[in-house]
Amino acid sequence: MRKVVVVVGCGLGGLSATIAATSRGANVTLIEKTERMGGNSAKATSGINGWGSPAQLAAGVSDDTADLFADDTQRSGTGGVSREDLVRVLSEESREAIEWLTGLGVPLTTLSQLGGHSRKRTHRAPDKADGSPTPIGFTIMQTLEQHVRGALADRVTVVTSTEARELLREDGHVVGVAVRDASGVDSEIRGDAVVLCTGGFSNDHTSSSLLAEFAPELLSRPTTNGAFATGDGVKMARRIGASLVDMDKIQLHPTGLVNPKDPSSATKFLGPEALRGSGGVLLNSAGQRFVDELGLRSAVTAAIHAQGDEYAGSGGCLFAHCVLNEAAAELFGRGMLGFYWKRIGLFRKAETVSELADLIGAPEATVRATLEAYAAAAESGRCPLTGKTVFPVVLGTEGPYYVAAVTPVIHYTMGGCEMTADGALIDGATRVPIPGLFGAGEVTGGLHGANRLGGNSLLECVVFGRRAGASAADSQLTDRG
Ligand SMILES: Cc1cc2nc3c(=O)[nH]c(=O)nc-3n(C[C@H](O)[C@H](O)[C@H](O)COP(=O)(O)OP(=O)(O)OC[C@H]3O[C@@H](n4cnc5c(N)ncnc54)[C@H](O)[C@@H]3O)c2cc1C
Repeated sequence: MRKVVVVVGCGLGGLSATIAATSRGANVTLIEKTERMGGNSAKATSGINGWGSPAQLAAGVSDDTADLFADDTQRSGTGGVSREDLVRVLSEESREAIEWLTGLGVPLTTLSQLGGHSRKRTHRAPDKADGSPTPIGFTIMQTLEQHVRGALADRVTVVTSTEARELLREDGHVVGVAVRDASGVDSEIRGDAVVLCTGGFSNDHTSSSLLAEFAPELLSRPTTNGAFATGDGVKMARRIGASLVDMDKIQLHPTGLVNPKDPSSATKFLGPEALRGSGGVLLNSAGQRFVDELGLRSAVTAAIHAQGDEYAGSGGCLFAHCVLNEAAAELFGRGMLGFYWKRIGLFRKAETVSELADLIGAPEATVRATLEAYAAAAESGRCPLTGKTVFPVVLGTEGPYYVAAVTPVIHYTMGGCEMTADGALIDGATRVPIPGLFGAGEVTGGLHGANRLGGNSLLECVVFGRRAGASAADSQLTDRG
């Protein structure tokens, strides 16, 4: 008889674990609390890291190594737990992860270099024929879902709209989960092992939440994460004694996009790093610049907070205006800007300085002086106000402009369940793996330290999801006790 592995959560960690468990001969019961698969994995836009891939070689990057990628990951994580054994596995198996996704049908042929990387190694799919971006997280999740529901249909039972609420344990071994379906009916789903892939807790906003417990200062802050990101797996594992690590290490992103039609929404669209990387400038409500837009995320976030500008009706969000001109829009990508501007209405267009000033409610003379000073700084190569020395474009008094309101948001929770390099979750008291319990993805911690490097989360899901799924399939009920 085949073993049954119960996988909780249908993001990239969960589907990677599922596919790996079936390839080791197990059947899988896959549980998802929302109506559909995807999780935050489906929202990813920048891509997935890997060194030594065919795409990297084709792009002429031939000097990247396991050590360089591991060093970048650990340097970015300074100040938190970024375990060497986990980082090494992540780096050494990154090429295989890219090839695995490519083999399943995800085109990962376009490369970019994100902040904190010493080489170009973040993979995504090429833009569509009309120039609009191919949403990489969505594409990966759609491809994997088709595989699970197609080729693996007779091996994987998918149970959606069903929330896992407790881990079931017998003789010390985890043997399944107690669940509640959408109509409130409780039942048990049993198996030989459980893999938790429930994601992080960036949207756990109640007064008894993990945010309240570990980062109370962030409790009222919006997030880029979906409503499902409530740390359920961390809570369930902790209740049976799992060790947690770095729970207070939470990554903020300075540019969540405020939707003028729904400013108080707890979930915000992510304003990609490329907005500022393409030359977008930040203005306060008085129409002045106040920070080097290309500074660290933490510095930009602090500077936005220091302005004290509250977005009306947002429930207290401090914000700034992000302004692009035509040259910045071109660099950012017309297709991408069109998505944020025309499709979801997060940008507005101002033809002239006067319209721009009206739009942000600042005196025209101040806005004009700000833009003149910025253009002069760009020409001279140094901004005397902010020390900025890199100017992707010259942005001056010539319109049109594209303007969005941006606010710092919770983006990623580095902390989670402590695990072995094979994805087994560790008991806090005995310091050994809890029999039958595995995990992968954002539910786990100890890899990214205090600051996750962009592109490493999708990679972590594939590398450790596959490891955890294989370990769960291989684990023996005779290991009990
Ligand atoms: C806007 C955005 C952009 C990003 N861009 C990138 C990027 O470009 N590159 C990168 O590497 N990372 C990126 N990240 C981070 C990355 O997408 C996520 O951290 C990662 O995909 C998490 O994967 P996961 O499988 O652990 O969790 P998720 O993908 O969030 O999946 C967890 C699933 O578990 C389900 N679930 C939760 N609790 C339960 C329960 N009790 N019972 C049943 N099901 C449950 C959820 O509904 C969800 O479907 C981005 C994140 C966001 C929000």
